[in-house]
Order: sequence, then structure tokens, then C-alpha cells
Amino acid sequence: MIQTIRGTRDILPEEIALWHRIEAVASEGFRRYGFREIRTPIIEKTELFSRGVGESSDIVNKEMYTFTDRAREDRAGESITLRPECTASVVRSYIQHRMYADHSPGELTKLYYIGPMFRRERPQAGRYRQFFQVGAEVLGDSDDPAIEAEVIEMLDWFLGELKITDTTLLINSVGDATTRGDYLVGLREAIEPDLESYCEDCHHRYATNALRVFDCKNEACRALISRLPTITESLDEASREHFAQFRAHLDARGIGYTVRPEMVRGLDYYTRTAFEIVANSGLGAQNTIVGGGRYDGLSETLGGPPTKGFGFAFGLDRLVMALPESEAASRRAAAAPEIFIVSLGDEARAHAALVARELRRAGIAVLLDFSERKMKKALALADKLHARHALIIGENETASRRYGLKNLAEGTQESLAIDEIIAKFA
Ligand code: AMP
Repeated sequence: MIQTIRGTRDILPEEIALWHRIEAVASEGFRRYGFREIRTPIIEKTELFSRGVGESSDIVNKEMYTFTDRAREDRAGESITLRPECTASVVRSYIQHRMYADHSPGELTKLYYIGPMFRRERPQAGRYRQFFQVGAEVLGDSDDPAIEAEVIEMLDWFLGELKITDTTLLINSVGDATTRGDYLVGLREAIEPDLESYCEDCHHRYATNALRVFDCKNEACRALISRLPTITESLDEASREHFAQFRAHLDARGIGYTVRPEMVRGLDYYTRTAFEIVANSGLGAQNTIVGGGRYDGLSETLGGPPTKGFGFAFGLDRLVMALPESEAASRRAAAAPEIFIVSLGDEARAHAALVARELRRAGIAVLLDFSERKMKKALALADKLHARHALIIGENETASRRYGLKNLAEGTQESLAIDEIIAKFA
């Protein structure tokens, strides 16, 4: 038997209603806040991520699915990567299509995406090698912290709408990439005496970008890391002011948060504001549902014009897990057929097909039974399929054009003509 690859999975029909619900709430939020959808390719040149996400990040260093595509005419081949995240792709697209070309000062390009990402991580509950993200990016010449607070307000609305309320917003500032130098020197000096006690990955981080040691999940390293100086303590003046304004904008919106100086986020492109939203219950170790931040300068790194950027991604897989059971149950129920047609006898079955077509054209979800079944068996099947109603069509009903609509939850039944049924479901 051929099965799914480790770290990947089928999202089965029983779960799909929950995915659709989250996608629908997200699309509605994006509409209200002025984001437009973009769909970028799942494969990109490897260089996009090695330059964009950064060589020192865990993602680029050890988690990318990269292969040489020999289809290129010159046969030398081209290094291609399954996208591990989508911000670099969106910024590439922004540059490639010159979306900034007719911008007025302060005008923003607001984009969102939904789709699969790929990282070769150790699979566990809530962590997959193919997972799905919904994300958004705000690009332009403005780095107003009010933009950041507005995006977080939108996320707050999403989560409230999905009834995911037991969460904490963690915020931090990782400073300005150009003035980070002094801090990094001090950080390396603080790590050095204990370097031997750090894990192998941290040795690599120490050598390439010492800030990345804060991403380490290793227990032994965590104890050492908790004593290191944080970047938040040594912010440059402008970054400090930016962070203060960001917090004031959150306060003005009544959005609560916790400042977490060790949270630097796993990607090299972040500058200044970084944030995460964690679920306080139900998700176990992989409880970060949203991650995001500011990435001024990413465009320049990718060969584009000077651009400010702010964005986030949330994990659909984890949001599905975080949905409260009552919300999940009502979404599954809403996806069930509204009417299961039970027809008794050949003539009634032929007529039932015409009734089904009319009901479906009126927008009602109808299932037609193609097998010959006794009434009791047919009703049991309707029940098993979670249909809310059975419509009973026998010889008499076919002749009178009035059908028996049975509410399966309540056990009540009434005799109705097609128009009356349609009016009932309108
Ligand atoms: P990141 O791009 O690493 O900032 O991740 C943003 C969000 O995507 C996280 O908060 C998770 O909800 C989700 N995510 C990241 N990696 C995985 C994974 N391997 N499996 C499932 N969800 C993930």
C-alpha cells in the first residue's frame, strides 16, 4: 500500500468544513481591511529564499526541499526550492510587477495569500512538512507603527470570529538591521565563554548570525540563552521610539500584549516590530498560531527599490486544531446535506430526480438515493449522512406533487409542494 510521505497528510472531507470556515473568515477580514489576494508559484529559484529568508535561518540552513531542475535548455540545471514561506515570493512579485511604480507618497500595496508551504522539520502534532499558511503583507514607503497595530487588530477580529479567544499576543522589537552591529558584538562576547555547552546548531548560529541562538528550542541552550543580553535592551533611539508608538497604538485599540524580549522570530529579514500569537491551551508544544513582523529592506535585498514591509502568516493546520469543539461541530453540521430524498418505487425514483434538480437549482443541498431501499433503511442512511431532512416520494406523492418533508432531528413531518419546500429553505 502506498501511503502519504512522512510529515504530510490528507485533509479528509470530515475536516474540510473547518478549513473552509477559516478561509472564509480570513477572506472576509482581508476584504474589510483592504487586502487583495495574490497567488504566487509553489516553486521558486532557491536564491530567492537563501537571499530573502537568509542563510543563517534554520529554514534555509536545513529545512528546504531543494532540487536541480534539468529541464532548462542549457542543461546546466537550475536550483529550485519548494517555498518554505511566502513573504519572499510576495516581495519578489511586488518588485517583478513594479507594483510600486504608480504609488503616491504613503500609498500601500496590501496583499494576502493562502497556500501550502514546505519545510523539512521533525514532524509532530501541529508540525508538518507540508502545512498551510494564510498570510498578508503591507508594502510601500511608510513604516508607520499604526499600520502594524491595524494588522494586529484584523487578526484580533479573525480569532474572535472563529471563537479562538484563549490566546496571548507576544511582541518585541529586534531593532534596525543597520544599527544591530554593536549589540551583536556584545552578544557574541556573552555567548563565547559557554560556547562549548551550546548545541551544534547554535555553533552555526554563533558563526553566522548570533541573534539566531534565540530561536533554539534545545532545553540546555534555553537555560544559557535566558542569561544573554536581549536586543530589546539595546535598541537604537529610532527603534525604541517606533516600539513605543506601536505599543501606544495597541493600547488605543484596547489590544492586550506581553513584551517578550527573547522572541526574535526565525527569519533573518525582520527589523523592529516582531510578534507572535500563541494559543494558551489545546495545542501543546506547537502553540504559535500566528507569526509576523516588519521587514524593511527585504525588497532591497532582493534587488528591488527601497521598501518598507510588514506582514504575518498564520498556520491553518494549527487554527483548525485550535477551533473550539462547539464551533467545529456547528461547522460540520452546516456542511451536511439539507435534504436526503427517499423514493419508493421506480416511478417515484424517476420523478425524484426531477424534484432534486429543481431543489438544487434553488440552492438547496440535496442527496439522491439511487438504490432501491425500504423506508426504514433509507431513513437510517439519511441519518448516518447527517442530513437534516428526508423528503419522501412514493406513488401518491408523485401523483399529487406534494411530498413528505421529515425533519430528522425533531421527527416531525409535513406534506409540501416544491414551491413551499423552496420557500422554507430560502
Ligand atoms: P513562520 O513562517 O515560521 O513564522 O510561521 C508562521 C506560522 O505558520 C506559525 O505560527 C504556525 O502557525 C505555522 N507553521 C509554521 N511552520 C509550521 C509547520 N511545520 N507545521 C504547521 N504549521 C506551521
